[in-house]
Amino acid sequence: MKASQFLISTLKEAPADAEVLSHQLMTRAGMIKKLGAGIYTYMPMGLRVIRKVEAIVREEMNRAGAIECVMPVIQPGELWRESGRFQTMGPELLRVKDRHQRDFVVQPTSEEAVTDIARQDLRSYKQLPKNLYQIQTKFRDERRPRFGLMRGREFIMKDAYSFDRDEAGAKQSYQKMAAAYRAIFDRFGLRYRAVAADSGAIGGDLSEEFQVIAATGEDAIVYSTGSDYAANMEKAESAAPQGPRRAPAQPLTKTPTPGKSTCADVAELLGIPLASTVKSLVLATEALNGAGEVAKVQVWLLLVRGDHDMNEIKVGKVPGLDAGFRFATVPEIMEHFGTKPGYLGPIGLKKPVKIVADREVAVMVDWVCGANEEDFHITGVNWGRDLPEPDAVADIRNVVAGDAAPDGQGQLAIERGIEIGHIFYLGTKYSRAMEATFLDEDGKPKPFEMGCYGIGITRLPAAAIEQNHDERGIIWPDAIAPFTVVICPVGMDRSEAVKTAAEGLYAELRQAGVDVILDDRGERPGAMFADWELIGVPHRVTIGDKGLKDGQVEYQHRRDTAATKVPASEIAALVK
Ligand code: ATP
Ligand code: MG
Ligand code: MG
Ligand code: MG
Repeated sequence: MKASQFLISTLKEAPADAEVLSHQLMTRAGMIKKLGAGIYTYMPMGLRVIRKVEAIVREEMNRAGAIECVMPVIQPGELWRESGRFQTMGPELLRVKDRHQRDFVVQPTSEEAVTDIARQDLRSYKQLPKNLYQIQTKFRDERRPRFGLMRGREFIMKDAYSFDRDEAGAKQSYQKMAAAYRAIFDRFGLRYRAVAADSGAIGGDLSEEFQVIAATGEDAIVYSTGSDYAANMEKAESAAPQGPRRAPAQPLTKTPTPGKSTCADVAELLGIPLASTVKSLVLATEALNGAGEVAKVQVWLLLVRGDHDMNEIKVGKVPGLDAGFRFATVPEIMEHFGTKPGYLGPIGLKKPVKIVADREVAVMVDWVCGANEEDFHITGVNWGRDLPEPDAVADIRNVVAGDAAPDGQGQLAIERGIEIGHIFYLGTKYSRAMEATFLDEDGKPKPFEMGCYGIGITRLPAAAIEQNHDERGIIWPDAIAPFTVVICPVGMDRSEAVKTAAEGLYAELRQAGVDVILDDRGERPGAMFADWELIGVPHRVTIGDKGLKDGQVEYQHRRDTAATKVPASEIAALVK
């Protein structure tokens, strides 16, 4: 590829709504373009990454014996009524009508469509097992699409579905996929963990999520330092002993006193039940008069819901400290404080704030309290007792870092992850509902035993960037880089020698099957390097007159701080 014939559109500034680095960098590098909330165009540069992700997934799925097909994006509502999901799925399922007022859905996954194939085309046990997969557009009307491709509404998923004669067979198919997923994720060169996930009503341990480790991940994952135990927080919690774990709540005090009150106290005062969805409680303050005395600070209460939807956080003033009490949304509070997200610390979840369990105290350390004017802040406010690690506010509850692992081996540690894959044993949930049967050896019809297996194709590049970037931009792992090598000729328009060398190397690398781009745009070196560092191409070769005199070019890996002089003839071996 020659850069002059490609579309390169880098930006200096990230869009205002880009909260996480991957979203900022993908936009700035010209990889994605927003068309609507959670709806993005995959620009040519971004599409190259996506296609490489797809190719790896496809190769390993095929190797594992799965068969590719493509099911419709728009599917008849009738089919979805058969499984019951048309009625039971919430607003995440996008329902549309055609000109005859017939219902359709835009596929969020494809269990119904694939089960419909099975009941027509898989008639005998002799045809089993089968595993059908597609790499296809999905739509989920996410309540809060955000983080660019990480949580889009339209996105690409690889979804596979296995069909077996019996439970034992289905479990084998599941294990085969578990192995294929490890092979796939190993190839991306990312740090990830496979963690046990809740398999819902079906029970058993046959559900695992593949989580890329990243501080910005939306999921909390729990693992043992002394064994292979790993689970997502929901699963770990449901297995942990319930109830308060630490010192019991202190006696009720009628006013929330710094350092004394429990979450339960405050909740009781406010008459708010500490519902299970309310995972933490954070106290924030507003300096009323800037006198710097805690007594003159209004106390605000934030209930952070378990799903971290910041727009849903309810805030109220504590009665007794102020005349009124009401609920407000975060945007309202922002407006009230005349501030931006993050300014108040706890609101943006950027400051050390943590509740250990339902019945323990909200703790903050040396927190700067909000005020509407400069110099009216109160610094060094301390509430509560022992501050745990200032990690995610969501890691609250019955499972705490340092606990003994459930298998008795080692201690639990908690980190955050991005769910990039999920495998799931389904049993006969769909086959029974949709009367999908095959004839078994005894001549009797039996419902298929099923499993389903997803990978977030477009989420993966975002997760990769969260793990691999620096202040200059993205650093792609070779496996999914938009280009493996960029050739940057300096003064190509002036120097015949540079032009000849650059085009020679370009031809040689292409011949060797290297995914190379030649930057023939005629940009100045500074601008050219900045572009490629932002885009994150892992290998760069700079060719200039000076080096060529000694028969050399400059090689620099994206992670290197300086270039190394090498003979042009050695480049192919370096980047292979
Ligand atoms: P999440 O918990 O992040 O909402 P999910 O559990 O709803 O994901 P699954 O139904 O398990 O997702 O779908 C399989 C895979 O599809 C997920 O593991 C994830 O990688 C990807 N995925 C799900 N929702 C989205 C989305 N809104 N945008 C991009 N990828 C997604
Ligand atoms: Mg979801
Ligand atoms: Mg999930
Ligand atoms: Mg999932």
